[in-house]
Amino acid sequence: MSDLRLRASVACLALLVTVGCTNEQSASAPQSPSPSASLSTSTSTPSPASGPSSSPTAASPASPTASLGRTPATGPPGDNRGGFEAGAAMTDVRLLAGEIGPRLATGPAFRRAGRSVGSRLRGLGYRVSFQSFPVPAGDSWGVPVGAGRSFNVVAVPPGFDPAQPHRLVGAHLDTVAVAPGAEDNASGVAVLLGLARLASRQDTALPTVLVAFGAEEPRGPADDQHHYGSRHYVATMPAPATRSLRAMASLDRVGVGGVVPVCTGPLDDGSVQQAVLRVARRIDVPAQPCENTASDHWSFEKAGFPVVRFGSTSYAAYHSAGDVPAVVSPAQLARTGRLVWAWLRG
Ligand SMILES: [Zn+2]
Repeated sequence: MSDLRLRASVACLALLVTVGCTNEQSASAPQSPSPSASLSTSTSTPSPASGPSSSPTAASPASPTASLGRTPATGPPGDNRGGFEAGAAMTDVRLLAGEIGPRLATGPAFRRAGRSVGSRLRGLGYRVSFQSFPVPAGDSWGVPVGAGRSFNVVAVPPGFDPAQPHRLVGAHLDTVAVAPGAEDNASGVAVLLGLARLASRQDTALPTVLVAFGAEEPRGPADDQHHYGSRHYVATMPAPATRSLRAMASLDRVGVGGVVPVCTGPLDDGSVQQAVLRVARRIDVPAQPCENTASDHWSFEKAGFPVVRFGSTSYAAYHSAGDVPAVVSPAQLARTGRLVWAWLRG
């Protein structure tokens, strides 16, 4: 890292601690192709409010067209660096934020999105389960919302043994009440799905569990009023998994900016963060360290697991109706996807 880059990183780090780094602009990126798949137009009855965990079969899509966008056999030219397909990820951002829209953790749009993600992961060969948990009433970024249930979509690779060393990569699927949530956090889910596809074809250094978390977004200002899904996951981990989880990575707001924020909270020793930054230098992806507690990594960090959070660059449409797919840069999805994939492979 050059002196100049180091100074910029330090300045940015100071900003990120409090308000996020605002000096990054989205790199221009080629237009990715129009979505090649459509969501189901089925009018079948949605699954019950208790969430799909009460009836796993109810989580299956009503028709084969209900899953998220199919992966094209090949991406556009230049779109497959490191194996990560930014065009396919952008298609998923459009489907989640453009077609489905705001995904309040306890609402029907979230359930629809969760079923689609689960179906997609199952189609890639993962063993998928749904963890249901309660979410209290509260304030969703200015909108009063009632109590309800949400769920995590948990995908483990075939033959997964929780007693053996493994990693977990997660991305929250919910949004605040008014936001379509393209950047926050269809971007993270889209990268998660891209990684799932890669990991279904190629080995990772350690087995990788993938989780689309429910109810990350706050329902009030306190530390026990957000991250409901990841806190539920940590609280219910079986003992063998608590001994063998080597790292948890949260993908949260990973499609804005030109540099990949690589964050931890204040309790972490930074070992995973430093390993990721070394990978970034090796594969020449611009990245910088940062500190925050505003995503699902914090639930794992508080429980003593090594963590890293990818993303958090500030942007004007945060938690607003303006968080639409046009906010997200395919080039930044590609930077993040390449970096996470290289770390998982190494
Ligand atoms: Zn988020």
